[in-house]
Amino acid sequence: MRLSEQLRHKLTYSVMILMTLPFVVFVALPSQWNASSTTLYISSLAGFVGVILLIWQFALGTRAVNALLYRDLSWPLKVHKILGKWGTLAIFFHPLLVVYSYGEDLLYVFVPSFKTDFEAAVSWGRLGFAFLVVLWVSSALLRGKIKFRPWKYLHYVAYLVLPLVLLHGFYASTTLATNNFLLGYWYALALLFVCILVMRSLHIAGIGKHRFSVVENSALNDEVQLLRLRTKASKLRVQKGQYVYLQNRLLSEEHPFTVLAIDKSGTEISIAYKVVGSFTAKLRATVVPGDVLIVDGPYGFFTRELDAGLALKPIFIAGGIGITPFMAHLTSDSASENILFYANRTPQSTVFNQQLRQALGKGLINIYSQDVGKQIGAESGYITPALINKYVQKPQAHSYFICGPEQMMAMVTEDLLSMGVLRQQIFTEKFGF
Ligand SMILES: Cc1cc2nc3c(=O)[nH]c(=O)nc-3n(C[C@H](O)[C@H](O)[C@H](O)COP(=O)(O)OP(=O)(O)OC[C@H]3O[C@@H](n4cnc5c(N)ncnc54)[C@H](O)[C@@H]3O)c2cc1C
Repeated sequence: MRLSEQLRHKLTYSVMILMTLPFVVFVALPSQWNASSTTLYISSLAGFVGVILLIWQFALGTRAVNALLYRDLSWPLKVHKILGKWGTLAIFFHPLLVVYSYGEDLLYVFVPSFKTDFEAAVSWGRLGFAFLVVLWVSSALLRGKIKFRPWKYLHYVAYLVLPLVLLHGFYASTTLATNNFLLGYWYALALLFVCILVMRSLHIAGIGKHRFSVVENSALNDEVQLLRLRTKASKLRVQKGQYVYLQNRLLSEEHPFTVLAIDKSGTEISIAYKVVGSFTAKLRATVVPGDVLIVDGPYGFFTRELDAGLALKPIFIAGGIGITPFMAHLTSDSASENILFYANRTPQSTVFNQQLRQALGKGLINIYSQDVGKQIGAESGYITPALINKYVQKPQAHSYFICGPEQMMAMVTEDLLSMGVLRQQIFTEKFGF
């Protein structure tokens, strides 16, 4: 039996709550309720519950785990981010309440000391806390303000946080020292962390990935390249709209790209990539036919309703390279009645126009933002409610699949909602995590 994605999500939340229960039930209540004992009790609970949330956060940020549990990988990543932003606060409460309860000042949380065994045990927690603050500030506060790579490298301190926090609990917690059941549970959590780490390491080492030879890496225009890859050994089973991760070699950076098309044998795939930064620039400049790239996947669930025939008659809205998840749908045999709003800066920056015109005829509506008034048969400016109304008779009677720059997706989504389209009729794919 195949569990629905919704059921998987509910199960995830249920297991998360269940995993906190041993602490909620077995952490001893204070013998006397006063300010100090109450804060100590709450700090203890906050620490234990925070560890469960940290473990889930770590697991849901691990593709090797997510791919086993879910089909839509954007959901675990969303929960990973929410836990990072809000769940981390539970852990923050732990040292702050301890400080209050001990009557210490705030420096106690940050300044490590290894004078006694107990102080050393506390210091594992202090280090874990300091790394967590770095993670939280860079991800929850500064993510939009710092570049992708500095943020990503800072994110690696996540590997240190859990071992430090687990060590801290093991050596410093009187609850664990006096309750064998909770101590056993703590060991089990440590084992779980090790298992996730092993899965992650195996994945990084290439287990489950495929080696593809480059057949073609040619320019579609100034910015966009067509990459064709072939493999002898493995057959990929890719559904329309799914994506794969590409890597130049093991241990190097991995980047996601939608599969434009796959041949019937499952051994040749094509990808269209826009050159935006160092990875794509290097891909364009250095990769030539005969080279080998590592392919991981396929992943993704964006156009699932289409594949399952569940969506209302779809309207496709693409901005620039956001056309890639739709190409297989739109150029298949049954595509002639589809409508595509395809927004680009100019005709020169538009890829696959001819192919799409052939497949869709009048169903292809080009919109050019920097070519106002010049193109016959095309629209100029941006996608607006008026433009949608011009081509779609009953906008509320359709589902909408949108992929493009984030700002464009947000604006079009707002427009559609204002036109009475329900949120559940709108499906979007972001080209960045
Ligand atoms: C599901 C999905 C499908 C995609 N499909 C395509 C496609 O078909 N064609 C295409 O041209 N682009 C696609 N992208 C975007 C592509 O992954 C990025 O443009 C590319 O990774 C940029 O790397 P860079 O080093 O060249 O540029 P950078 O300047 O480093 O990155 C530009 C932006 O891309 C995103 N990004 C960078 N690295 C990663 C990463 N490892 N994982 C996730 N996001 C990252 C970040 O938001 C970053 O700000 C897709 C992205 C996603 C998430």
